[in-house]
Amino acid sequence: MTLFEKIASREIPAEILGEGADWIAFRDIAPQAPVHFLVVPKHCIPRINEAETSDNNLLGNLLIAAASTARQEGLAEDGYRIVVNNGPNGGETVPHLHLHVLGGRPMNWPPG
Ligand code: AMP
Repeated sequence: MTLFEKIASREIPAEILGEGADWIAFRDIAPQAPVHFLVVPKHCIPRINEAETSDNNLLGNLLIAAASTARQEGLAEDGYRIVVNNGPNGGETVPHLHLHVLGGRPMNWPPG
């Protein structure tokens, strides 16, 4: 079981912000912005590079969940950023697909 599967099954505690049939959103343990949460599929896809066409519904649900949780967190008006890290150069550290949602401050571009 991956770390995020253990969070989804409540084996490991996290501050859960919401969940649906196929996703869960919880605060990042090491926030990089005033608001920083992750949206994760309950069924593990290791990373976006391994997603398949048949995952299209799930991937859409993750984006919709990210936006609705961002609204719930009060980020809609000022905006926010959604990030997906893939592989070593992308900065991926947990091999279970997740969307980072960051807000509460202006984001830099280009990203680091
Ligand atoms: P990434 O580097 O894109 O793979 O992102 C993994 C993220 O998971 C990092 O931002 C970590 O801070 C976060 N993280 C690791 N362990 C936990 C945990 N137990 N609860 C919440 N977030 C975590």
